[in-house]
Amino acid sequence: MRTRHYGAIVVGGGILGWSTAHHLQQQGIHDIAIIDVSHPGVATTGAGAGFVGEWAAGFGPKGWGANELALEQYSLAFYKALGQRHDIHLRCNGNLFLARSAHGYDSWIAPMLTHPLAPADTRALNPSEIHAISGGSIAANEVYGAVYHPQGIQVHTTPAVVAIAHEVLRHGATAIYGQQVVELVHENGHISGVKTNTGQLYYANQVIVAAGAWSNTLLRTVGLTLPLYRVVATRIIGQVCGVPDCLPTVMIPEQGAWIREHRGALMWGTGDGYAAVYDLPQIATVGTRPYYPELVTSLTNAVQASFQRLFPAVDMSVANWTQGMPAYTADRTFIAGAVPGIHGLWAVTGDNEAGVTHAPALGRMLAELVTQHARTDIDYAKFGLERFTHTYADEQAVAAAMPPRR
Ligand SMILES: Cc1cc2nc3c(=O)[nH]c(=O)nc-3n(C[C@H](O)[C@H](O)[C@H](O)COP(=O)(O)OP(=O)(O)OC[C@H]3O[C@@H](n4cnc5c(N)ncnc54)[C@H](O)[C@@H]3O)c2cc1C
Repeated sequence: MRTRHYGAIVVGGGILGWSTAHHLQQQGIHDIAIIDVSHPGVATTGAGAGFVGEWAAGFGPKGWGANELALEQYSLAFYKALGQRHDIHLRCNGNLFLARSAHGYDSWIAPMLTHPLAPADTRALNPSEIHAISGGSIAANEVYGAVYHPQGIQVHTTPAVVAIAHEVLRHGATAIYGQQVVELVHENGHISGVKTNTGQLYYANQVIVAAGAWSNTLLRTVGLTLPLYRVVATRIIGQVCGVPDCLPTVMIPEQGAWIREHRGALMWGTGDGYAAVYDLPQIATVGTRPYYPELVTSLTNAVQASFQRLFPAVDMSVANWTQGMPAYTADRTFIAGAVPGIHGLWAVTGDNEAGVTHAPALGRMLAELVTQHARTDIDYAKFGLERFTHTYADEQAVAAAMPPRR
């Protein structure tokens, strides 16, 4: 069955896909089809904690620098503007990087204060200042010190992606939900469209794969496997108990922890609730979230008592939890660029568990490449697919190749 021809097709309606569609429209391509087997935010994006910050200024992986910081600053401005137009639960509370011990402070926090990319308004906080900025929720005697980035924000991820989708659809795009793209149709080195599991063909000369943790499932059909290493990541929400909504995003590097307020409750996660997909019995089907209650148990057992001391007045018993599947890359840097060998085929993926933060900027970069509006101040090659010259046997090999985070 032949269907209509679009200006571009985006495969995947997570935060990366919709952000790309948004920026394609800004670059002049309005007639876009966004195809998703599910709905906006149902997969990994909806599980995201919604922190956006200047991570490249000493908190992100070692290899992140001025390029990533520029992406982050663009995204911060993007969400702040989006939050003026839609209720995305935007909170401009800043990001607090916390140490609970002298060792944690010296290893993680002090270097952020002197980091060459530290934002001008970076400041150090002592325990009583930490208590105050947390609205009284953090016990001063449980912390050693912190560094504070006032520009950090939080959003709720599902309303954020729905808001972007709403704007894109209002500007002439078509959402095709409930169909899985199973084939990237190409001829003589040029993409011509996609085929879905219902047998439908959709045509476009530009096709963008933004399929999150399932990107390789699709790209393998054209002989490409990106060096992605997927993990299941867990977030827990405690009981509603009046956690103050002024609480900044709290990152505790020495515990691998992240914490925020969520509708009067506390939301948190640490590496204790993570597992490599290759270590788990079965993988979530395309467009769904994984379900591993045992990771909730290991997370709870590992940190609940310690977090309870940190937030003594908070009810930390588990009210609900969810999981998503971030995809790390072999070099811990994002992927946004042309698929070599097939003209008009592009990929934006490899979110490195920071896709909410970077999606608007990555979407803009990809749209600029597609429409040949590349700027001179961005190092597009750093995010391009050609940078991967090594072939990895499997996701274990990708994980083994990843440089240490710090
Ligand atoms: C617990 C947790 C906390 C996190 N916290 C943060 C945070 O605070 N800040 C931050 O920046 N990031 C955070 N992240 C990471 C962030 O959520 C991800 O980086 C981001 O959501 C990835 O978006 P995506 O669009 O690539 O993937 P997804 O949201 O998974 O979107 C991919 C879409 O593609 C669709 N799809 C896949 N294959 C096909 C196909 N063949 N045909 C049709 N549709 C298809 C799927 O249905 C899905 O909707 C967190 C993640 C988790 C799990």
